[in-house]
Parts: sequence; C-alpha cells; structure tokens
Amino acid sequence: ANERKFFVGGNWKLNGDRQSIDGIIQFLNAGPLDENTEVVVSPPAIYLDYVKSKLGASVATSAQNCYKLSKGAFTGENSAAMAKDVGATWVILGHSERRHVFGETDELIGEKVKHVLSEGLGVIACIGEKLEEREANQTNDVVFRQTKSIAANISDWSRVVLAYEPVWAIGTGKTATPDQAQQVHKDLREWLAQNVSAEVAKACRIIYGGSVSAGNCRELATKGDVDGFLVGGASLKPDFVQIINARK
Ligand code: PEP
Repeated sequence: ANERKFFVGGNWKLNGDRQSIDGIIQFLNAGPLDENTEVVVSPPAIYLDYVKSKLGASVATSAQNCYKLSKGAFTGENSAAMAKDVGATWVILGHSERRHVFGETDELIGEKVKHVLSEGLGVIACIGEKLEEREANQTNDVVFRQTKSIAANISDWSRVVLAYEPVWAIGTGKTATPDQAQQVHKDLREWLAQNVSAEVAKACRIIYGGSVSAGNCRELATKGDVDGFLVGGASLKPDFVQIINARK
C-alpha cells in the first residue's frame, strides 16, 4: 500500500449547524494531522462555502452528492460546478444512502461520475453489499457490478478513490473485521487489474467505510489493501483526528 497516499474522508451526512461546525473546524485546525494522510471533509452542501473559508489549507472539502448536469431547471439540486466554485475538490457519489434511501441506480451514479470528472473534481465512489447479499455470498457480484458501471465512466483514475462500504456496517456500530475488509479490497484490486489496468489497480486508493472509530481504525489500517477510510458518525467528533492519524 506504500505508494498510495492514505486517504481519510469525513462524511457529515445531514448533520451540523454553524455552532457545531465551528467545533469540528476547531479540532481539525488544532490537529495535529498526519501530513501523510490526505484529509477531506464533506459537509452538507449549504455549509461547503462556510467550512472551506474556516478550514486550514491542508483539509480539502467535498460535496456529498451532486446532479449529473451543471445547471438548469432542476429545482433542489446542487452541481459539481457550484461545489467547485466554493472551493470543493471532491464529490462523494453512490453513497449507500443515495442508493438505498433515494433510489439512485448504477446507471445514474455512472452518469454523475462522468460529469464530476469532466468538471475537474475528484470522485469518492462508494460501493458495497447489503446484509442479505453478503449472507447469500453475493458480496463480490454486487461490488463488481457497481464498480463496473462506475469504471465505465472514468476517464482519469488519478482523481478517483473507491470507497468499499458494506451497507450492513454503515451507522450500525457493526464494523467489517479487518480481514473481511482486506478480502474485499484485495478482490476489488484484482478486478481493477483484470478489467481496467495493472497500473490503475496498483495506484487506486480503496478506502473502507462502515462504523470506523478511534478504537478500530488502527487495526484496519494495518491491512495492505486498506488505503484509508470514509467515516460517518465519528467524523463529527474529535475522534476523527485519531482516525486521520491511524497510521502514525
Ligand atoms: C458513511 O457515511 O459513509 C459511513 C461509513 O458512516 P458511519 O461511519 O457512521 O458508519
């Protein structure tokens, strides 16, 4: 995993107000944050501008989602161009809540991936199986199917991070074991080698998400194919600094 820079993203989901955000910014700016970790936080779109204006330069910002076009008659949507205009450099796409709460399909997520890359932003592309799929031994089928429709829309892999987030582990307190995460990451890297290229397989960061905490991050981070984390709940707390520093 050595030449892949460790990547930790904080997905705030639909949480925060100016007061609580000030608290998060305070602990992030105080750090200290491992300079060998690439750090990105993803506030609700309404706060992207505010957060960027207060954060130190070493922490990047990301939108949690965006529409597949840059502007127009799409009431209620946000665009990658707008996120970029307020300093964001990443967009999370295909998060399990977008897929399973809002019904986003592989096809729509693929279109969004293509659009965001064309706007010059990076993509944190999420994939992951549901509990019943894991129990039916369909984990790789699901993960590969989702990755395939993402990969078909990628022009520049250097701006893509893949986030493996088993749905059963998100927000549940139930983390994949380090071995379970490592196995899927390894299989996914093999899929990239066979379906994209050996170079992409070697260079692409595959991060893990699902109830990552200050308590479990260090052991997960010892795994060779775990190149970082996407963190939900714990990214709202000072514990996030410990997760950023998991390899330190
Ligand atoms: C997430 O939102 O991507 C996530 C992994 O959430 P949590 O860490 O709360 O499980």
